[in-house]
Amino acid sequence: MPEDAGSYRYSAVMMGSPILLKLFQPDETLARRVFQLIKQLENLLTVNRSPSQVMAINQAAGRHAVSVSLPVYQLIKLAREASLIPGGCFNFAIGPLVKRWKIGFQGHSVPPADDIARLLPLINPRDIELDDATQSVFLRHVGMEIDLGAIAKGWIADRVQDYLRQQGVDQALINLGGNVQTLGSPPHAHRWNWRVGLQKPFASRETLIGTIDVAAMSVVTSGVYERFFLLNGHHYHHILDPATGYPLDNELLSVTVVSRRSVDGDIFTTLLYGMGIGRGCQMLQGYTDIEAVFVTRDLRVICSSRRLFDFTLTDKQYRMASD
Ligand code: AMP
Ligand code: MG
Repeated sequence: MPEDAGSYRYSAVMMGSPILLKLFQPDETLARRVFQLIKQLENLLTVNRSPSQVMAINQAAGRHAVSVSLPVYQLIKLAREASLIPGGCFNFAIGPLVKRWKIGFQGHSVPPADDIARLLPLINPRDIELDDATQSVFLRHVGMEIDLGAIAKGWIADRVQDYLRQQGVDQALINLGGNVQTLGSPPHAHRWNWRVGLQKPFASRETLIGTIDVAAMSVVTSGVYERFFLLNGHHYHHILDPATGYPLDNELLSVTVVSRRSVDGDIFTTLLYGMGIGRGCQMLQGYTDIEAVFVTRDLRVICSSRRLFDFTLTDKQYRMASD
């Protein structure tokens, strides 16, 4: 029986992305509350509209600390820790570069090298001071900006999961524009249960390389095909290398992470994208509940292991490989 036999699907477009909620009891009111919650949480974190708590921190850069609500403070603390992982390229202080490139937004351009050199000193995560006692955040220099774009969806997906559990729901799937979080397993499934598509890079959203089967896990993908522009035959995508200020340039087209918490998936997709396959798989050996699927430019698919999921390749151009 298909995974979503007997499911009820509710959809919306939010944060510029399609959002899907799958339940196994019809509940229009619950779906509406979930979408409201997503909107509220996004309003706390956005860096593109005032007023948000993160915008308030950015606007006070170089001047004063700003106290924020506990959940936002905890997320910022997690983001800071992830930004200090040696060899990783996740950096939540990347804001000034993201704003300068505008990749995925109107007015994108390749900044002159001088501009990038000028902005690099403003993206040091160590220059973001946190104070637990006052739950406040201070950016030391004028021009610094926090950007939680890489992890907002994962964090929100986890909050939706918490909310659904509180409401007594124990079988559901939420897809926040490619960040999938699942509760339990579908009623009619056996073995691995939810089937999540692995998108084929540069093809339509519905075209898949294969499928990932999981139960009670999050599945998050970061890909260079998600937001990019082309100029003079060059492909500039939205994951920036904090060391150079330019889009990360390596063998990878996408990284998918299977984890319990979606926010971890979101952090690790960016971290692993920067580390590459060899170092990435090595790092994952230290984590029992995080796994990855890498897709390379030369059409290989590599799974770090398959303890937490099952993968089925369906596209004939790609082949399974080991690192
Ligand atoms: P995702 O769609 O989860 O891969 O996140 C991409 C977004 O993360 C970008 O649009 C930027 O807002 C932000 N970003 C870009 N480069 C980095 C980086 N090196 N570390 C953290 N966030 C980044
Ligand atoms: Mg992410």
